[in-house]
Amino acid sequence: MENGSSILVVGSVALDSVVTPKGESREALGGSATYFSLSASFFSKVLVVGVVGEDFPNRHRRVLEERSIDLSGLQVIQKGKTFRWVGEFGKDLNQARTLETHLNVFEHFRPKLEPEQKEAPVVFLANIDPELQWEVLAQMTHPKLVACDTMNYWISSKRAALKELLSQVHIFFVNEEEVKLLTQEENVLKAGRILSEWGPEVVVIKKGENGALLLAEGQYYAFPAYPVEDVVDPTGAGDTFAGGFLGYLAGAGSSVAMRDVQQWKRAAVHGSVMASFTVEDFSTRRLEGLASVHLEERYRKFLELLRVEDPSLILPTVG
Ligand code: AMP
Repeated sequence: MENGSSILVVGSVALDSVVTPKGESREALGGSATYFSLSASFFSKVLVVGVVGEDFPNRHRRVLEERSIDLSGLQVIQKGKTFRWVGEFGKDLNQARTLETHLNVFEHFRPKLEPEQKEAPVVFLANIDPELQWEVLAQMTHPKLVACDTMNYWISSKRAALKELLSQVHIFFVNEEEVKLLTQEENVLKAGRILSEWGPEVVVIKKGENGALLLAEGQYYAFPAYPVEDVVDPTGAGDTFAGGFLGYLAGAGSSVAMRDVQQWKRAAVHGSVMASFTVEDFSTRRLEGLASVHLEERYRKFLELLRVEDPSLILPTVG
């Protein structure tokens, strides 16, 4: 882990209130940067850029610190209120319904990066106002790998800024509904191609429990989700996927300079494995109790599940 590249992430650090068919959680730790960093921290060093209010509980902060996540870029606004998101999932666990979004301290947030933050080789512009994503990217000195995510909230309100941002990123994580909304194309595969023409080298279309599609070098690769029988709360699955994906690419034993399809595929499998843990409990609870051996075990099992043998294809050819 120590020899890998560090990842800078800008995104929301939130208090989430979520209802799912399995129960509910109130004012729990959430936010795109939170899920991403917890997940990526299993593979590489993570530096968070974001903002919270005075009301952000210390116990939430400790969850991130316990995974050695660098919070020096997490501003605390005195008398300010932390970003809050209220959402629910019905029987269709693939689709979150936003009930309330309170930007609070994010409304006036102007990120100013420190030298160490500017030099991070990998940047994840997690789901937040595309103008803030842009402000962070503009301060980076020489990022080797830039990835971003977004949400229907920003696609509807800041489409132009988002489209411009996409011309500067290498990897774009987007879900099925968002890709349609962004491109106005109903066919997901065609929509993905439109997005890749806007700039990103790799487009990852997340489809919840139906897995993910990866578009790289003009070709689609499909991945199932790691099978989880008891999904409790899908909140954060997308950011956790991105954390596993980029964390793996930035981690020791890997290299951000290595860019080939096999590498993207391994990254996608890491993303799926991490996301499969997040959905097993509310908020970040499952990630908090996780040890590297658990994810290694699931990673191996997933590779095994993905393997297809066909002896008829390896018979010697005649003539
Ligand atoms: P995901 O389920 O991976 O798409 O992300 C869920 C997280 O995104 C939740 O923890 C929310 O706090 C956060 N979130 C929801 N809406 C927004 C928004 N408009 N901007 C930034 N973060 C958000």
